[in-house]
Amino acid sequence: MASARDLQRYKELLLEKQRELSFVQGEAAARVPAAGGLEGDLIDQANADAEAELQIRLHQTDRRLLRAIEEALGRIRQGTYGVCGVCNQPISKARLEAVPWTRRCRECKEGPAA
Ligand SMILES: [Zn+2]
Repeated sequence: MASARDLQRYKELLLEKQRELSFVQGEAAARVPAAGGLEGDLIDQANADAEAELQIRLHQTDRRLLRAIEEALGRIRQGTYGVCGVCNQPISKARLEAVPWTRRCRECKEGPAA
């Protein structure tokens, strides 16, 4: 189990990434017109503007990551942080340092965004 000092460090890493992503989100929203509600339609359009599409994809990845970060912060509060959600083994420090929002150990590896 991670020590209180480790937890504090992971929490700081998570909050830092959260701030960074929130900033990027704001930037992307400002640059893509009508960002709310039209994402599905835009992606379906074969000739959608390539840059706008890329922005939206980044936007969605960031949203997933932001949610993963929020969940990780929740696990820190609940005292369940740093344990693999699949095999229940502790996740290595090196992995938590690199991907502090992860929910799985290296053996139970996961997709690119989580
Ligand atoms: Zn595992």
